[in-house]
Amino acid sequence: MPATRIETSQIEGPEEEARLSALASTRILDTEAESSFDAVTRLCAEYFRADTVLLGFADASRYWIKSYWGEAVRELPRKGSVFERVLAQDGPVVVPDISQEPHLNEGRMRLRRMDVASFASAPVRSAEGRILGTLTIFGCEARRSMALDELRMLESMAEMVASLLELRRLRNRFKAQRPRQSRPMVEALRKWPSKLDLRRALDERQFVLYYQPEIDLSTRKIIGLEALIRWTHPERGLISPADFIPLAEDSGMILPIGDWGLEEACRQIKEWCHDDPTRHTLRVCVNLSARQFSRDGLADHVEALLRQSGISSRQLGLEMTESSLIPDMRTALEVLGSLRRLGVSLLMDDFGTGYSSLSYLHSFPIDVIKIDRSFVGRMTEGDQPLQIVRTIIELARVLGMDVVAEGIETCEQYHLLRDLGCRFGQGFLFARPMPVEDVTLLLSLPGRILPFPVDLKQVTVLNPA
Ligand code: C2E
Ligand code: MG
Ligand code: MG
Repeated sequence: MPATRIETSQIEGPEEEARLSALASTRILDTEAESSFDAVTRLCAEYFRADTVLLGFADASRYWIKSYWGEAVRELPRKGSVFERVLAQDGPVVVPDISQEPHLNEGRMRLRRMDVASFASAPVRSAEGRILGTLTIFGCEARRSMALDELRMLESMAEMVASLLELRRLRNRFKAQRPRQSRPMVEALRKWPSKLDLRRALDERQFVLYYQPEIDLSTRKIIGLEALIRWTHPERGLISPADFIPLAEDSGMILPIGDWGLEEACRQIKEWCHDDPTRHTLRVCVNLSARQFSRDGLADHVEALLRQSGISSRQLGLEMTESSLIPDMRTALEVLGSLRRLGVSLLMDDFGTGYSSLSYLHSFPIDVIKIDRSFVGRMTEGDQPLQIVRTIIELARVLGMDVVAEGIETCEQYHLLRDLGCRFGQGFLFARPMPVEDVTLLLSLPGRILPFPVDLKQVTVLNPA
């Protein structure tokens, strides 16, 4: 392995020293190309249809490129690089229009085949969470924004790189200490969820549904619940959907997992109503991913589930994102039409993050628009997000659709949304997604009116049974 050259001219502070030392332990700098890293950049390029992908690591002065796809870039000054932005932000960075970033090296770089116009970059972290490098996709067209699930996908790919690095670090260490020791590598590999893990998780009933209440903002009454899947991994504990849904999508496992989720939600609705028939007015919403939505016979499948569980179609809602509908609008319209005829509610999830084209929205038979939480979160910080929220609410009113604001975390956001005429909302301010037992307690509250912030202990006292 070639000697690692770490520049030390700009090391600042103990945190940066710890970062550089973590980087040095990977011995990644100045190494040859490796197919495993190239596979990630290629995968990124294909998935995001990016013009150029750069995977790089930064020492004190250089941003050194381990793998590229598209334009060949080997090294850039660290100062003014995308890496610096990600490090400063301690998280992913999305810049839809690079002309707004005149100081960025990569932006100034006039690449051979393209003018960089936009980029998104996710951190590659050490096992301790220190940012060692970044995985960045560049496009030559300025994009308005990047969908949340796309950003998550980019972050997952950066995590994949981090796992490769960790393997490399372990390999280095154990080569030096005990050349034949391979267990830690096996352990590290086992951290990866694979298609097989998902299959096993399903067979061994490791998936559970959590539920988050949706409330009427004027009365604080629970009007419905959103089912959100969790993976209770025997070793890794609770794994969030962001960490396995993309893999489930890519591997096709989303179909059996999604079937399970729908069936489980219907079963749970039946059970809740059996215990208290007044709950039949509640609508439980299940998220459908793009692949589930575009599968043949979705409406027949949902119809069979409704029949089998004996619940009314009014009790079920299906949430999908714009990205599921747009690629094939004609088919999407047919599918939505058949689902609508069944009587289930149709919700447009994460609205505002995708295409958000006003020209198509009115043609889809959607009942509810869910305003993405990124807008709700920034609503009190600036005029633009506030204006977007206002516009979405107005748009929904004109189209006769309901609006649910996602991700309400503060009283200020709550009051503002109510004043803007948003009828429904969900968010940590009212209740987090919670296991069935806890939600059942909330559903037993008089009038199903949520006290908030929700104190489950108090709920238990109110409902000693
Ligand atoms: P989503 O459908 O937009 O779900 C809302 C997400 O926002 C949930 O994340 C929820 O925990 C989170 N959230 C709710 N209120 C707040 C808040 O006030 N602040 C913040 N910061 N977050 C809030 P979760 O459960 O991690 O789910 C993430 C995504 O995974 C979901 O986004 C959905 O797209 C997907 N997902 C979840 N369950 C399923 C499923 O059963 N099937 C499929 N296909 N996708 C699922
Ligand atoms: Mg949702
Ligand atoms: Mg959402």
